[in-house]
Amino acid sequence: MSEEKKPLLVPSLVKMKCPNCRKGRLFVNRTSVSVNKNLAMHTYCEHCGMKLVKEDNNGFGINYVLTMLTFFLNILWYWPIFGFSMKDNSIFYYLGASTLVTILLQPWYLRLSRTLFLYFSVSYGSHHVVKK
Ligand SMILES: [Zn+2]
Repeated sequence: MSEEKKPLLVPSLVKMKCPNCRKGRLFVNRTSVSVNKNLAMHTYCEHCGMKLVKEDNNGFGINYVLTMLTFFLNILWYWPIFGFSMKDNSIFYYLGASTLVTILLQPWYLRLSRTLFLYFSVSYGSHHVVKK
């Protein structure tokens, strides 16, 4: 590798950039409610040419973990705002609100879990960079 500045891990991950060069975009479209459009990925990185689409890159396991995590972490904002009581139905309102938030985050989560999967399997600069 040359003297090129290495982009930071977390911002690249959040912006869903290629795990190898952290510059090329992973996804063709912006986050979309249409699953096919949402998950359309570039086959090869536009910047470094690394193959991005892998047979086993489903990220479903990671998606499951993120989903469950959100479901429980929703309590952190719900509790201070609405509060809880065992004497009424508030626990069910919480479960409803939590489910809704989790569903609304799905399009982004599906992409994030694929990105995380790639970041776990490919480390920065591990593939030969194709100069364009
Ligand atoms: Zn790349």
